[in-house]
Amino acid sequence: MHRRRLLKLLLAGLALPFPATAHPARQLVGIRSWRSSGKLRVVLDLSGPVEHRTFELAAPRRLIVDLDDTRLNTSLAGLPLAQGPIRSLRSGLQGAGTRLVFDLNEPVLVNSFLLAPGEGRGHRLVLDFQLRTPPVQAAVIARPAAIGDGQRNIVVVIDAGHGGKDPGAVGPKGEQEKAVALAIARLLAKKVDGRSGFKARLVRNEDVFIPLRKRVEVARRYNADMFISIHADAAPRRTASGASVFALSQGGATSTMARWLAERENRVDLLGAQRSLSLKDRDPMLAGVILDMSMTATITTSLDLGKNILDSLQGVAGAHQKRVEQAGFAVLKSPDIPSVLVETGFMSNTVDCRKLVDPRHQRKVANAIFDGLFQHFQARPPQGTLLAKMKESQDA
Ligand SMILES: [Zn+2]
Repeated sequence: MHRRRLLKLLLAGLALPFPATAHPARQLVGIRSWRSSGKLRVVLDLSGPVEHRTFELAAPRRLIVDLDDTRLNTSLAGLPLAQGPIRSLRSGLQGAGTRLVFDLNEPVLVNSFLLAPGEGRGHRLVLDFQLRTPPVQAAVIARPAAIGDGQRNIVVVIDAGHGGKDPGAVGPKGEQEKAVALAIARLLAKKVDGRSGFKARLVRNEDVFIPLRKRVEVARRYNADMFISIHADAAPRRTASGASVFALSQGGATSTMARWLAERENRVDLLGAQRSLSLKDRDPMLAGVILDMSMTATITTSLDLGKNILDSLQGVAGAHQKRVEQAGFAVLKSPDIPSVLVETGFMSNTVDCRKLVDPRHQRKVANAIFDGLFQHFQARPPQGTLLAKMKESQDA
């Protein structure tokens, strides 16, 4: 081969990992971390979207994160690492990019993903360090008593909409939404409690008024794995019928109906629009971020949960919408608890209303909602639950 051509080829090869620009296009401008539900989350704040790779190396155990075409423009010293899976953090150059080396104390599973700008934050790369649980022994799972062996129940907090001085929607013959919602909520709670590995908690079990803010607090107090609010509303259009399922949106509502319903439900309580997560014990600088991050993750889970419920509910209640709608319901604003709002039908529709007050139909609706949420949790059981343990033993 001609020497000059060889040189050209070599240069061409070199040009691949080293972009022509003298200065990398992006900067790593900040790094933050906090712990939540069994994992350590590290967030890299970036000036733009990056290509990245992560891989683990043994002896000594470490995680490598390569950020292409990115320059370090922050100190790594401030990252709080005490008592976590990360012993120390170093950085180096990797071509035109930056290599981060996380020295690890213990084996971890790392999940990394990029987040686009939102809620006052720019581009971010999120690294979730999940602590690896020791292998489960099949013999332990076979015993029904496993619930008491540190394998917790999935807690479903059920919120019957309205109550007390707030009747909710009123049907053609004076039927009240608050009574329909409570009846379905009670039946759902019974169904949830009947399944091993699940525990139901009712926000209200009588005809009382509870502000929206308080309802969310109940879910937090019980460490809920999910929050479900049961409704049966009125629509401006009398012909509107069937069930709908809603999850929270960070941006605009996905339909006019979603916006209209959200405004209607939120009007009940002026305090409802406030976010209720107490962040007193956390760094105030992080508060906004935690909310942002957990909201994003929670909304994704809520949408999956909602889809399972809607699919299941369609058969008994009909579907007003074919997909899970998103709107700014105050009652759904628990940043770290997957939350859905189910409109089981419309009190304003004569046919729907007749069914909604019928105990047999209420039972069918409750059963269908349960089937939907059960399917969701069976596919994605939360960590530390009996269901997760059972699934692990099946997958192994
Ligand atoms: Zn309602």
